[in-house]
Formats: sequence, structure tokens, C-alpha cells
Amino acid sequence: MLVTHVHWDHVSGLDSLRVPVWINEAENRYGADDSHGRVFRAVSQGMEIREYAFDGPEYLGFPASFDFYGDGSVVVALAAGHTSGSVVVFVTLPTGKRYAFIGDLTWQMDGISRGAQRPWLMRRVADVDARTVRVGLQRSIALSRVLQVVPAHDVAAYDSIPLLPSRFPSVTL
Ligand SMILES: [Zn+2]
Repeated sequence: MLVTHVHWDHVSGLDSLRVPVWINEAENRYGADDSHGRVFRAVSQGMEIREYAFDGPEYLGFPASFDFYGDGSVVVALAAGHTSGSVVVFVTLPTGKRYAFIGDLTWQMDGISRGAQRPWLMRRVADVDARTVRVGLQRSIALSRVLQVVPAHDVAAYDSIPLLPSRFPSVTL
């Protein structure tokens, strides 16, 4: 399981999956220390946590990356600001179709198509650095011309994603 960040609405139910959880150090620390990490602390108890490092170069405008399989098919890019270690997960299918799972950089596709930001109060409450989130959102808007951007909370954005066989090793939320 590769999480974009550890807010409760992205990790609830994690403990029902018997898979390792991959997370970067900054997000693991956020999950351990921040009041918004309470659910993560509960559901990750006893689960295998595997930390990865952003040992790769700048990727599509994001400052650092981690190539999950080493073949460019799943690349994790640091897009902090919503939480300390929020990421965008870039997936390239064998067909060449490309996706960017942007977590909560914006909630709905209108954040991409119209540049709409989330409501002010929610940004205040949920983001650790709203300015950095805006930068990440602008990068995602630029990328939306060449790949499919998938905000975590827009079900319609998932419509064209092919279903994966159950043996597929990764799930992104
Ligand atoms: Zn969130």
C-alpha cells in the first residue's frame, strides 16, 4: 500500500489489508506526531511499515522522487504542504497511459480544470503549508494536459481507470 498521505479519510481500513505500508520519513513522522495522525496511529499498529527515501531526481516539476520499481512505472514525487510528506504518485500503464494520483492537492477535478482551491477554512485546518500546496496544484494543472490527474475525492476521476486484477501488489488512496 502506497499512501499519498496519512489523513484519516485516506488510511481508514488500512488494517483490513495484509500488506506492507510504504511511506516516506516526513509523512511517517507527521503520522506519529500530528493530531491529524490519530487514525493512522491506530490502524497502522502492528502493520509492516516500509520507509522509502526520495533518492531520485526532480520529476515533472516536483523537487524529488522515488522510483518504486526502478522502471518508471510507479514514481512517487514529493508534494508536501498538505501534510509534511504528502506525495503525488505517478503511474504509467504498459499501454503508455499515464496517471497522477495527487491525493488532496485539490479535492475535485474543478481544482484542476478551473484552478479552484479548496474552501479557505479547510485549507486553514488541514494544510501544514498552504502556499506549497498551491505550487503543487499549479504543477498538477500544467501536467493535466499530458496525463490524467486524479484527485482522491473525485469519484468521476476514477471512471476511466482500468480495474486491476486482485494479484496486483499496490493500491493507491
Ligand atoms: Zn488530506
